[in-house]
Amino acid sequence: MKLGKYSFGIGDRFGLQGKYQLQAFEQALKQGIEITPVWNKSNREHTIVHSSPADVRAEAEEAVAQGRWQKDYFVDADHINNSNVEKFIDSSDFFTLDVADFIGKPAQKKDIDDFISAFKKYRGSLLVPGIRTPFEITDKSLNEMAAKYLYAIKEAGAIYRTIELKKGRGSFVAEVSMDEVNNPQTPIELFFIIGALAKEQVIFYTIAPKFTGRFNKGIDYVGDVETFAREFEEDILVVEYAVREFNLETSLKLSVHSGSDKFSIYSEIARLIKKHDKGIHIKTAGTTWLEEVTGLAMAGGDALSLAKNIYAKAYERREDLCAPYASVIDIRPDHLPSPESVNQWSSEKFANALRHIPDHPDFNPDLRQLIHVGYKVAAEYGSAYINAIKANAEMVGKQVYENLWERHIKRIFL
Ligand SMILES: [Zn+2]
Repeated sequence: MKLGKYSFGIGDRFGLQGKYQLQAFEQALKQGIEITPVWNKSNREHTIVHSSPADVRAEAEEAVAQGRWQKDYFVDADHINNSNVEKFIDSSDFFTLDVADFIGKPAQKKDIDDFISAFKKYRGSLLVPGIRTPFEITDKSLNEMAAKYLYAIKEAGAIYRTIELKKGRGSFVAEVSMDEVNNPQTPIELFFIIGALAKEQVIFYTIAPKFTGRFNKGIDYVGDVETFAREFEEDILVVEYAVREFNLETSLKLSVHSGSDKFSIYSEIARLIKKHDKGIHIKTAGTTWLEEVTGLAMAGGDALSLAKNIYAKAYERREDLCAPYASVIDIRPDHLPSPESVNQWSSEKFANALRHIPDHPDFNPDLRQLIHVGYKVAAEYGSAYINAIKANAEMVGKQVYENLWERHIKRIFL
């Protein structure tokens, strides 16, 4: 089982938009670009919306059958670890091994010694083809990298083997993710992380480092685009070099997590993967749910009222809702409109405040982020929410499709 050159993760919190999401991939295929859809859902999302991995599998299969999609697609057990991987085994064929929490934990002395002896041949000035400045590798820097990452890499190996034992070698795709941390991994760290994963015999097709800058949920990249581009290109070159050095799957590629809505870096990502003829995996941040709210607003009447009520409840409970997402959102409370004023809004006004068109005068990134983390409120509405989405399926689906196709896939892949 292999992962195609271009792949795109699509989260869908309530599991109703699969066929509309798939339309964007069908559109890309019509224009000659094959992008593999990957339906991803994390354990946390399942817990909050009371869904199961089998639901995601069912949604994907239904969407594919309806759209007559003949190409590959995957169901991703997103950000799993050894404590929760079990329940994803049957339904998933893509596993995102999240070892971010284990970074910095002390590895065993013997493992550190093995790491040093495996990689000491890189000591001195290490020139990676395509990168002008050599990296200076010393015993000290190798020791530091082992101290920082080796425990996490061992953990990735343990999760990988759990899955492999149950599913069988070659019957699934693995991604290794380290993105949910504060400090980015440098390109040279990425090189040794990949080397150590290879040594651990993890067969993986994509790796998600933490890149420089802030990847807030649902809004644009915050950071210096030039610095990002430089790092991203070095990461591409390092991955290519690592593939050769460690005899890895030649299609090994970078994965950009929370990659939805990062419009200001899309042109650089597009330029660099083209320049180096590389693949990419973009994982979105569950933002399809925001298109559902936009669609409800657009539908007017009761649906618009429901959208307003969701906002009002999220506004009241914002501290609770935001707490688990503190490192991936930046909401300025004084930029949030009061629920009273939102209650006066028309369909257009609400949709324009929420829809991610950064230079639209009504766009409000603070409101957008608050609603993004407010899906718990919609989940509490239960069937009232689900029925509203179903009653307005076409309007909602149109928002989902347009968001994926116009604002994302077109910009990155065409
Ligand atoms: Zn991630």
